[in-house]
Amino acid sequence: MATDSTQVAIVGAGFAGLTAARELTKRGIDVRVLEARDRVGGRTWTVRKDGYWLDLGGQWTGPGQDRIVALGAEMGVRSFPTWPEGEHLQYTEGLGLRRWTGAVPSDDVETLSKTVQAIMAFDQLTQEVPIDAPWNAPHAREWDGMTMQNWIDNNIESPRVRDQMTTAIEAVFAAEPHDVSLLHALFYAKAGGGMFYLVSTEGGAQADRFDGGMQLVAEKVAAELGDRVVLSAPVRRISQENGGVTVEADGTGVKASICVVTAPPSLAGRIDYSPAMPPLRDHLTSRSPMGSVIKVYAIYDTPWWRDEGLSGRVVSDTGPIKVIFDNSTPEATPGMLMGFIEGGDGRRLANVDADERRKLALECFVRYFGDKAAKPVDYIEGNWPAEQWSRGCYGAVFPAGTLISCGTALREPVGRIHWAGTETSDVFPGYVDGAVRSGERVAREVAEILD
Ligand SMILES: Cc1cc2nc3c(=O)[nH]c(=O)nc-3n(C[C@H](O)[C@H](O)[C@H](O)COP(=O)(O)OP(=O)(O)OC[C@H]3O[C@@H](n4cnc5c(N)ncnc54)[C@H](O)[C@@H]3O)c2cc1C
Repeated sequence: MATDSTQVAIVGAGFAGLTAARELTKRGIDVRVLEARDRVGGRTWTVRKDGYWLDLGGQWTGPGQDRIVALGAEMGVRSFPTWPEGEHLQYTEGLGLRRWTGAVPSDDVETLSKTVQAIMAFDQLTQEVPIDAPWNAPHAREWDGMTMQNWIDNNIESPRVRDQMTTAIEAVFAAEPHDVSLLHALFYAKAGGGMFYLVSTEGGAQADRFDGGMQLVAEKVAAELGDRVVLSAPVRRISQENGGVTVEADGTGVKASICVVTAPPSLAGRIDYSPAMPPLRDHLTSRSPMGSVIKVYAIYDTPWWRDEGLSGRVVSDTGPIKVIFDNSTPEATPGMLMGFIEGGDGRRLANVDADERRKLALECFVRYFGDKAAKPVDYIEGNWPAEQWSRGCYGAVFPAGTLISCGTALREPVGRIHWAGTETSDVFPGYVDGAVRSGERVAREVAEILD
């Protein structure tokens, strides 16, 4: 195995790893990035087809996500808003389809006001959670002993409002309310600008996209870094000895003073460490599964739903696709409807045959948009739970009891190994912005040691 020498070895060329590499390089520090995949971008992935592009992974930015917005601007990638015009659709089992406008769907005024009240009550609770150490919240033990499902059961009486809150949680975490600790949900919402912001499009987390795709930004950063980024190099073992670190990947390796691991916790936990990780860190990585999402595109010659006065956005209580957006590029040719299969549906359908998944997905598009949706010119999906180097998305979902018992191990370095990745961010964790921030934070941390 060829073993190179550098100052900082970085595992993973997603936004966290690339940002860390860029920031360290700017400070004159030598880095090597080892990436398992044959591409950069990690959980962002832009697919180029004949004459158009689409994002199979992370895509949106929103107000306040300043670090990714700034990085995109520095890389010369233009932003554009999510398609804003037309009425949205809501599908409710037993009631069928109705059109709506605004930020929150509802069948009637009472359900609307109760849904808004529930989200506001939840957002009020987040105020008690310190984002740099959620395990220190005054009610941390009580809240980490509960799931989001417990909170819904205890606080929302109306079945319709409970369904709406469940869909919101599935959409934000790609997980079921019973998968997520209440403390984690409160932390995530507070660090991400509030639940209202996270479920909103205009003015919220789904506001804008990069023209050319999110991965384009990562590719431009990687191009600046040149041969410091090594692809198709899955890291298998990290050893700390004799005042240094040896990182062994398939077919290559690197000796460094410090190693930064940017893979999400559950994947970081699959690397073999010598000496072995301390118990707390090992517990953290074995107790932080990823959410489950399959991102599905039905592609048509034109966005014909716009002519019918529709925005292309759908919220539904019936799966497997419960949330849909018009995800066409600014040119609007072709027209693209994009839906998410999330949480329990995502876990289940990640395992079925691709043809069966396509059939179930198209049934959803037809349920909401009629027979015209039945025959797309193309159908493309990103099955994230099946991705060997992500094993799900959008990010890690902490079950009850994890944050209070091992949350401190998220960012705490272990000897010469430091941790980054969106899960380690205290602002917009789970989002690309959080990944960029974590790369900037770890670069400061490491540069201080090397100075
Ligand atoms: C379908 C989907 C939709 C999303 N939507 C949005 C959105 O609209 N807006 C938003 O902000 N975020 C969104 N996200 C989340 C966002 O993409 C992630 O939070 C972000 O990209 C994480 O970046 P990261 O660098 O922390 O981790 P990653 O991107 O996961 O980077 C880690 C890298 O490490 C590599 N790796 C793992 N193990 C090893 C190993 N042993 N050796 C070497 N390399 C390894 C991986 O291949 C990967 O490239 C979405 C994600 C998905 C999948």
